[in-house]
Amino acid sequence: MKVELKNTTKKLCVIGDPVLHSKSPVIQNAVIGALGLDYIYLCQPVPKGEAGRWLSCAAYAGYAGFNATMPHKEQLVPLMDELDPIARKCGAVNTICIKDGKYYGFNTDGGGFLRALGDLGVSAGGKRVVLLGAGGAAKAVAAALCEAGARVTVANRTVEKGEALCQMAPGSMTTAGFDIGTLCKLAEECDILVNCTSLGMEGTGSQFADLSFLDALPSRAAVCDAIYAPAETALLRRAREKGHPAMNGMGMLLHQAILALEHFTGEKLDVERAKAAALTALAEEG
Ligand code: NAP
Repeated sequence: MKVELKNTTKKLCVIGDPVLHSKSPVIQNAVIGALGLDYIYLCQPVPKGEAGRWLSCAAYAGYAGFNATMPHKEQLVPLMDELDPIARKCGAVNTICIKDGKYYGFNTDGGGFLRALGDLGVSAGGKRVVLLGAGGAAKAVAAALCEAGARVTVANRTVEKGEALCQMAPGSMTTAGFDIGTLCKLAEECDILVNCTSLGMEGTGSQFADLSFLDALPSRAAVCDAIYAPAETALLRRAREKGHPAMNGMGMLLHQAILALEHFTGEKLDVERAKAAALTALAEEG
């Protein structure tokens, strides 16, 4: 289904530097077309440091909103009139709605992760989570998990970055090391294990040196990887072989986009149709 342009069509886009590789236009235009929404979604390069100038241009040019990727997610935060709790907690926005000259900032990465977790039949409330990594993805996922009532232990290679991340919710987060002994110990008392490092990601050539910590997980523990390329990392393969419920990052990617579109349109969308349309468009893209 193609996007149909009318004089009333509202503009959306993704900004970043670089941004031309972004899958957001493919995903969003597929959903917009499938659901018959009167929007179009573009790709807008905005150089590092220029997000503030872009904000006023976007309002003037009549954009209903936009998504932000690297390196603008943090820089936009102080420029927002309002922030949602997850964006405030993790200090990063990826979705900005423009309404009556005001800017409303959201972070849908974490909410997208929670929705994907729900698709797996797992809720976060009261759960013990071991989160590997302390970069941008980990921050958003940790903020959403804490909002949902989980207790999160952040294990990161660079311990100081893990400690800094835990400062966003000191009551519900603790930090730990990334050595195999520590990971095995953490796994013993874990309901949900989430990989938000880039270990196993296509093109990086880096892998977990030792996955034996998976053997220490309780049998019903869920294993999640934020990575979606490849569709099955070595971590996920081993978790599935051991019978754990497991998911890759594709659900998070699709759900964060659908959540963003719900913020832009102010409508609750048909999530299953939206996901199906986005997956078909991504498969056609190759
Ligand atoms: P980032 O900010 O660069 O963080 C990378 C993380 O990986 C850091 O915690 C880093 O540890 C860790 N790391 C890198 N190399 C490592 C190694 N050799 N050993 C141990 N730890 C290592 O990246 P990001 O944006 O958070 O992305 C992380 C992953 O999430 C990527 O694979 C990305 O594709 C995925 N992601 C998925 C989605 C989605 O929608 N599914 C969204 C965003 C990101 P240090 O702090 O020690 O450097």
